[in-house]
Amino acid sequence: MTRSADILARLALMRAGDVPVHGGRTLAYVYDSGMAEVEQVGRDAVAAFAGSNGLDPTAFPSLLQMENDLVAFAAGLLDAPETVVGSVTSGGTESVLLAVQTARDSRLDVASPSMVLPSSAHAAFHKAAHYFGVRAVVVPCGPDHRADAAAMAAAVDDTTVLVVASAPSYAHGVVDPVTEIAAAAAERGVRCHVDACIGGWVLPYAARLGREVTPWTFAVPGVTSVSVDLHKYGYAPKGVSLLLHATPALRRPQFFASADWPGYTMLNSTMQSTRSGGPTAGAWAVVQMLGDAGYEKLARDVFEATDRIAAGIAEIPGLRLLAPPDSTLVALTTDDTCDPFTVSDEMGARDWYVQPQLTYGDVPANIHLSVSAATLAHVEDFLASLAESVRVAAQSGPVQVDAGVAAYIASLDPASITEEDFDGLLAAAGLLGAASADEGLALPDRKADINALLDVASPALREAVLLAFLDRLSRPSRPGA
Ligand SMILES: *Cc1c(COP(=O)(O)O)cnc(C)c1O
Repeated sequence: MTRSADILARLALMRAGDVPVHGGRTLAYVYDSGMAEVEQVGRDAVAAFAGSNGLDPTAFPSLLQMENDLVAFAAGLLDAPETVVGSVTSGGTESVLLAVQTARDSRLDVASPSMVLPSSAHAAFHKAAHYFGVRAVVVPCGPDHRADAAAMAAAVDDTTVLVVASAPSYAHGVVDPVTEIAAAAAERGVRCHVDACIGGWVLPYAARLGREVTPWTFAVPGVTSVSVDLHKYGYAPKGVSLLLHATPALRRPQFFASADWPGYTMLNSTMQSTRSGGPTAGAWAVVQMLGDAGYEKLARDVFEATDRIAAGIAEIPGLRLLAPPDSTLVALTTDDTCDPFTVSDEMGARDWYVQPQLTYGDVPANIHLSVSAATLAHVEDFLASLAESVRVAAQSGPVQVDAGVAAYIASLDPASITEEDFDGLLAAAGLLGAASADEGLALPDRKADINALLDVASPALREAVLLAFLDRLSRPSRPGA
């Protein structure tokens, strides 16, 4: 037996290589309230229920109680009708997957089901298309990066089982015209899901704080389901989201039962069967501690931080916003004196984590920020670091992709990329340690060159290359390595 103190010390050492989860300097993946007692109560609750199993609500009534409490709180935020029902899921992706699966299985009469998505919809919908065989009909957004409601309405046909809107979109932080989209869906008798995974726990407070917010909740006629993540702006520990349906009948196809085996009758409300009680308890504890007043205060802080960051970006020569933020997400891009990838690396060198987004269609490469309440205390530092990063990035100028390499990339067929092609790409990107793949992958601190290469690749090639990369990362540890 190894002593627990030694094990925890080793875990701490490993974690030191990760991006920090608090401190307000990591502007993607993590959401920081900046309140130590909130974080602590969430973690204590996770630990207390880590061994509890949500598989059977009659054996663990505590988890059912917490789930129903969380859904009730969300119902209040989302202007839900009296008939609303909901489920705790493991995250936004599971909530989205279930919204699509439920819509598909509510229309077993449709032989080849499809769903209408704005081009800004989260990639989780493409995963749902892949898993559930629901064709994604993608409709380009307008120049303001919002869904084009008229074009989406025109895309609805007899095979459509779901129409989707975002509040807001992850990539550009804008809220879609939900009223028009939901009305068009309702007119055809089609379900409308609002993906409020990232905005659902913060936009309701924006409206209350007097900010202008496009209507997007269940108050909008035609909205049939909404997803909202507690592990984003609910500031809960990871692994918890909610999917709400306007009525029990709309939710019914989400549930699964099997008595067709000799064991217990398996009865599931979500994709998981055994489900840790930890995330549910963690979220419940955080919601109890913060309550409505706590979330309103955190919303005030995060919107102040977002407004100041947006205003500051407008003042930095060489930068501009892709769109004025409707919520707490910022997308910014550069002029041609520098590039977003080098700016991201320079921010990393100044202990800020920002998330590069690649060129997509007409939308240039840019930088995504998910602002946290905890970022408010550091806004001046953030803007100073950003201005300095842009200045340094402009000194070297935008990353140039070698014309020969670009031509090589353009010549690759994503459907039939070989191991040799992949070695060539990894070497071109500086990701391969030395001569051979056996020497392993090097993860560089600076990623601008790699991002610039990916940026000239088609989306399909990006997927193929990054999947091959992930495949090579995901190998059993070798003793002594
Ligand atoms: C984060 C997010 C998701 C996916 O959520 P995960 O928790 O990462 O699985 C889906 N939609 C939107 C808009 C999101 O921001």
